[in-house]
Amino acid sequence: MRLETKIKVPYLDLRIPPEEREILLRAIDRVFQHGRFILGPEIAEFEAAIATYCNRKYAVGVGSGTMALFLGLKAMQIGPGDEVITTSLSWIATANAIALTGATPVFADIGDDLNIDPKSVSRLITSKTKAIVPVHYTGKVCNMEALKRVAGNLKIIEDAAQAFGALYNGKCAGSFGDLACFSMNPMKIFAACGEAGVILTDDPAVHERLIALRYNGTVNKEWCIASSLNGRLDTIQAAILLHRFKKVDAIIKKRREIGDLYNQYLSPFVKVPNEKSNERDIYFTYQIQTPRRNELKLYLEERGIEVKIQHPLLMCQQSIYEKNPHHADRAKTLVQNILCLPMHEKLSGEQQEYVIDSIRDFFGNNQHNRNL
Ligand SMILES: *Cc1c(COP(=O)(O)O)cnc(C)c1O
Repeated sequence: MRLETKIKVPYLDLRIPPEEREILLRAIDRVFQHGRFILGPEIAEFEAAIATYCNRKYAVGVGSGTMALFLGLKAMQIGPGDEVITTSLSWIATANAIALTGATPVFADIGDDLNIDPKSVSRLITSKTKAIVPVHYTGKVCNMEALKRVAGNLKIIEDAAQAFGALYNGKCAGSFGDLACFSMNPMKIFAACGEAGVILTDDPAVHERLIALRYNGTVNKEWCIASSLNGRLDTIQAAILLHRFKKVDAIIKKRREIGDLYNQYLSPFVKVPNEKSNERDIYFTYQIQTPRRNELKLYLEERGIEVKIQHPLLMCQQSIYEKNPHHADRAKTLVQNILCLPMHEKLSGEQQEYVIDSIRDFFGNNQHNRNL
């Protein structure tokens, strides 16, 4: 039974406010007028902006984050016979992209930060291992120092889909690997109004290969150098992203303020994300951990607060991957305790306070703090 509550707290709110709607309509109309719907001028402009922001030489706009991973792995010459180590806790796209190249996804365990555990990675490396795909899960960059030490000569391909603008030792997510992939789907912090993604690299040869791979492996309209798909980014989405790019730092700032507030008031009751001094998390999701997760979920839902359990099935527990090599003892325990709270830049102060109060009430602290 849902209680009658004054306040509702949606998990996400993807509607576009009227002022932004006007700007986006004008940006789309400019594309209508020049008519270059595929690889129009906005694409190169978008790619240049992202490459600069992430301090990389090249950016290649593609149709989705999944496509970015698939084409990125292909560009790194990963294929049949190779093993690629990734985390056990991520959206299934990470594993699927590896498997679709013909390589075998191998799943490492996670640490308390919910990111891939470098020690687990080192125990899974074999003579067939070709690359590591760390996922900056929840918008927190993995421990890249430890991971690079473990990787040695292996390629690193960052799945930075959730982490645009996150920092580690002052460097941007997407600037650590031989190649990095972002998703700009509408749920992501830096979001298009549809599917979109981007690949980053500093290697001119890899860049050249990516340009061919994103259009059926063709070098010009006729000459095909590799079997691939059509993975190009729409000009309309690039035009939207160019506008949204100007807003992304403000969005991150707002999310970090909400994250700080949650961290401060919820840490006595649940395990909250632990941002270290050398990190800047962007809170793509805000995930708490508590052994009373299922009870808390029902309690919050009854109060009109939308919460989510993400990926209760680890990638290595999916029937198609359960026979693949994996370590997931820690991940199996941690996913039982994880709950994602509403986290988006449109949350009002009142809504944030209501989430915090409700969680404090659940844990039996009846002292409301109405003036946080
Ligand atoms: C969103 C996401 C993807 C896939 O991106 P799409 O744009 O939806 O294809 C891949 N990996 C992770 C970790 C993601 O969160």
